[in-house]
Amino acid sequence: MILDGKIVAKSIEENVKKMVEEFYRRYNKKPVFRTILVGNDPASEIYSKSKIKNMNKLGIDAEIIYFDENVQTLDIIKKIEELNRNEEIHSIMVEMPLPKTIEKEKILNAIDPRKDSDGQSPYNLGMMMAGYEKHVPSTPMAVIKILEYYKIDIKGKDVCIINRTQVVGKPLAMLLLNRDATVRICHSKTNNLKEKTLESDIIVVAVGKPNFLKEEMVRENSVIIDVGINSVNNKIVGDADFENISKKASITPVPGGVGSVTTMVVTSQVVENAFSLMENK
Ligand code: NAP
Repeated sequence: MILDGKIVAKSIEENVKKMVEEFYRRYNKKPVFRTILVGNDPASEIYSKSKIKNMNKLGIDAEIIYFDENVQTLDIIKKIEELNRNEEIHSIMVEMPLPKTIEKEKILNAIDPRKDSDGQSPYNLGMMMAGYEKHVPSTPMAVIKILEYYKIDIKGKDVCIINRTQVVGKPLAMLLLNRDATVRICHSKTNNLKEKTLESDIIVVAVGKPNFLKEEMVRENSVIIDVGINSVNNKIVGDADFENISKKASITPVPGGVGSVTTMVVTSQVVENAFSLMENK
C-alpha cells in the first residue's frame, strides 16, 4: 500500500481553512507568522517560499525575514526578541540549516515558547518529553499524522527509527512512546542494523542517503515511513528502495510523502498558536 502524504496534507488543510475562517470571524484579523531565513541555501529558500505562499493562500499573514549569511547570532536574537514582544505576531520559526557560524541553541532558546510553531525551543522539547504535546517539531508530528490517517496501530508496536537528530529521531521517539510504541533509535554507530529493522513493525528512515533502506532489510507487511530527501540527477528521492519495498510493505513515497505533511503541520500549529495567544491575552 502506498501511504500518500498529499491526501493526509489535504485533510489537515481542510481543517486549517476552517480554523483560519473561525479566527477571522472571532478576532477580525489573520494569524500572523514570520520565519527567519539566514544565508542563501537554495533548498531552504525554495522550501520557505513555497510554505509562505501556501500559508498566504490559506489566509495567514506570512512573511520571510531575510538575513545575510555573515549576520551575527546576537542580531538574529534581537530580531526574535522584537518579534516576541510584538503582540501582532503569533508565530515565529527559524529555517534550518543555519550557517555554522551561528549558535543554533541560543537562537532556538530565544523564541518565545508560546510563539514557537516548529516546537524546537528547548522549553517545548522538554514539555514534549514530559508528555505535553502543544508545540511539537513538525516532521516527527507529520510521521504521526500519516500513521494516524491510515489507521496504522502504534500501541505496542516495535518501531525502528534510523536517525537520532533533534529534528527527527529524538522527538519522534518521544511522540511514539507517548502513544505506547516500543521504540529503538538507530544511527551510524548501530551494529547489525538489518537484524533490528527485520524485527520491526514500523521503520522510519531519515538518513539522507538514496537507496539506504533495501528490500531485504524490511519484513513482509511492515510499514515504512521515508523521511529522507535526496537529489539524484535532478530528481528528488527518499532513503528507501521504493520500487522493491512497495511490493511487500506499506511505504510513503518521496516526493509526496512526509514532506507534504510537514508543511501542513507547521501551518496548522501557526493557527493553533494564534488562537492560544488570543485566548490567553
Ligand atoms: P542528519 O543530521 O545528517 O542526520 C542523519 C542521521 O542518520 C543521523 O542520526 C546519522 O547517525 C544517521 N545515519 C547516517 N548514516 C547512517 C548509517 N550508515 N546507518 C545508520 N544511521 C545513519 O540529517 P537530518 O537533518 O536529521 O535529516 C535526515 C534526512 O531527512 C535528510 O535527507 C533530510 O533532508 C530529511 N528531512 C526531511 C524532512 C521532511 O519534512 N521530509 C525534515 C527534516 C529532514 P549519527 O547521528 O550517528 O551521525
